[in-house]
Amino acid sequence: TEEMMIRSEKMSVAGQLAAGIAHEIRNPLTSLKGFMQLLQAGVNRKEEYYKIMIDEIEKMETITSELLFISKPLTNNKKEEIVEVMVHEIVALLLPQARLKNVDIKWKRQDNHCVYCDRSQIKQVLINIVKNAIEAMDEKGTIQILISATDVKLEIAIIDDGPGIPEEIIHKLGEPFFTTKKSGTGLGLMITNQILEKHDGKLEIEQNTNRGSTFKIILPLPNE
Ligand code: ADP
Ligand code: MG
Repeated sequence: TEEMMIRSEKMSVAGQLAAGIAHEIRNPLTSLKGFMQLLQAGVNRKEEYYKIMIDEIEKMETITSELLFISKPLTNNKKEEIVEVMVHEIVALLLPQARLKNVDIKWKRQDNHCVYCDRSQIKQVLINIVKNAIEAMDEKGTIQILISATDVKLEIAIIDDGPGIPEEIIHKLGEPFFTTKKSGTGLGLMITNQILEKHDGKLEIEQNTNRGSTFKIILPLPNE
């Protein structure tokens, strides 16, 4: 019966996903069709319309590539990986985007912590969370990444000094398609939770006492 319960939970997530996809794809399609009809009728604001149409197509591109990631079976490609190397790589990847928004990423490589994981999946988790932190900042800000460990678990804390998360939406984070952004997909934290579950890990979200929020990625350590 436990298996049945897990199954029915999965079904409802699939159902939720299907409804969400239909919605997320139909809106840009409707808008595309409208602009196509205007162009067909021979209007003169062509350049403006093309730009909107490209934006709509990009929205569909983003959503389909994130969905492809979800539908890929999370294959087991786990090895011993050094967390600091993965963090270093994703910081290098996201720094240009951060700089464009005047966001500083503070991170000092201090140790070498080994975790047993799928490196591309854990990097995806790190990207999702750091990207959210960058996107949350209004004009400028600082993101700090701290890594710490006990005997049994490793913790990667991503701390931002952005606006924080309103109390009333905190329980919705990670629901498929829940987003507060104009062109967000609301899939990042759902994918994150899925990946961490597959690693016997979890995500903890906290409000900072001063400003912003902290996302903690927790992974088990091999206890020798
Ligand atoms: P998306 O980024 O496409 O909106 P996510 O699942 O990655 O989808 O995030 C869901 C929502 O969680 C965001 O729209 C935002 O409201 C909130 N959120 C996530 N990270 C932060 C953060 N660091 N600060 C404030 N809000 C955040
Ligand atoms: Mg996101």
